Amino acid sequence: MQGHVAAPVKVGVLAVQGAVSEHMDALRRAGEAIGVAVEPVAVRTPADLVGCAGLVLPGGESTTISRLLRSSGLQPIVLARANQDLALFGTCAGLILLATSAKHDVADKDIELLGLLDCEVDRNAFGRQKDSFESAVAVEGVGTVPAVFIRAPVVTTVSEPTQVLAKTERGIVAIQKGRILGTAFHPELTGDTRLHEAFLRLCADAARTAG
Ligand code: GLN
Repeated sequence: MQGHVAAPVKVGVLAVQGAVSEHMDALRRAGEAIGVAVEPVAVRTPADLVGCAGLVLPGGESTTISRLLRSSGLQPIVLARANQDLALFGTCAGLILLATSAKHDVADKDIELLGLLDCEVDRNAFGRQKDSFESAVAVEGVGTVPAVFIRAPVVTTVSEPTQVLAKTERGIVAIQKGRILGTAFHPELTGDTRLHEAFLRLCADAARTAG
């Protein structure tokens, strides 16, 4: 099947640390799966984000990512474009940054929450558990996907208009508000591209708004 979007959809991946190339690769494969031409872009500066219809905030260390968002000048632009013409996908540390609040105060950790997903996160939810594990998670509208958890947060409460997409016995692990998606786990570390496909549809939607 040929794609129905003529120009490639530019999708940024915040390139500070973490699984940046894995996300870029997952976006490419997701595009092939649904017939959407995708141009993944490594984003480090506001100039890199120009023309991007979406931005992935990958996992890593939320303190480091938060610092870069501020020092690069990207933070105000992301905040201004969110929910208008920029789709966002936060995985793990990226989800923490999208939240409105954190169970244990994060200000002293030099983390500034973006407050784009109405929820509280517990950064240390899996702290005393095994550091990393893989399991299958049923995601609303997407299906059951393999999920890799690495020192993962959990979402403790969610309020409207943010919606719960997936819940495990340990808590909520995927949420969405409009074109903003967040998962506590790393979908880019598995071969399954369905969450990236869902995100690409949100990006294509954002691109239409901008166009
Ligand atoms: N525990 C990390 C943090 O709080 C997140 C871990 C991850 O992104 N894999 O920033």
